[in-house]
Amino acid sequence: MDSALRCPVCRAGFRGTTRCSRCGADLTRLMTLLVTARHYRNKARKAICLRKFEEARALSTSAQKIHATQAGKRLCLLTSWLAYRQRALG
Ligand SMILES: [Zn+2]
Repeated sequence: MDSALRCPVCRAGFRGTTRCSRCGADLTRLMTLLVTARHYRNKARKAICLRKFEEARALSTSAQKIHATQAGKRLCLLTSWLAYRQRALG
């Protein structure tokens, strides 16, 4: 899991569990967001393989809005460039 993530209640590092190890806060919602972002990025990668670049761009952008990461930013840049080229070249 992303080590930059923290418990919204006590700021303890997120360890990928549904309960904060320090304060016991319910982190289910946080985990759901992370899983959703990962799911969108996986779908974006599959869309790239199928040359559906606009779909890949939309998926990677949605993932980045949910959970911004450096790797996600690179995926957004790649899919934006691919979608642009596909539009420009027809
Ligand atoms: Zn906590």
